Amino acid sequence: MRPMKVAITGLTACSGCQLTLLNCEDELPELLGLCELVYFPLAESGNVLDAQFDAAIVEGAVSTPKDLELLFSLRNAARVLVAYGTCALFGGVAAMNNTISCRRDLLQTVFGDAVQLPESFAPAPLANYVSVDAAVTGCPPEKQEIMELVAALAAGTLPPARCYPVCTE
Ligand code: SF4
Repeated sequence: MRPMKVAITGLTACSGCQLTLLNCEDELPELLGLCELVYFPLAESGNVLDAQFDAAIVEGAVSTPKDLELLFSLRNAARVLVAYGTCALFGGVAAMNNTISCRRDLLQTVFGDAVQLPESFAPAPLANYVSVDAAVTGCPPEKQEIMELVAALAAGTLPPARCYPVCTE
């Protein structure tokens, strides 16, 4: 059986979910036997997103046009798209100030008047823009859930649905 082709990447997020995956040192050799990582910019430079693949594991919320462009590319290229972690599933940390009316003031406080404000919009979960096939909750997800995700994808199925968000904004 050929290893499944997988892309792993992040949108607006802290990269903690991707790092948790990289921290599975003991399990990584087995995981790498099941997967061919075709795109994983956090771990390997030079990857180009120009192929079809079996699964895209996506961390983070959509908060910029660039995020949205990447998400559409991943959705178009992947048979299965996984919302990976609380930010991808619910908006998470990036969406916590969505309800604050002075969002622009907050950006100016952080970046200052002289800085061109980034083009952005209210951070939102992946499912607000594309269909999502599976979700892994957690901030970040537990190692066990990552193993279950990879095992399920390698077997051609989806991981068991669970939902116990830590932060759901
Ligand atoms: Fe970071 Fe938590 Fe968001 Fe993962 S879910 S990217 S660990 S803030």
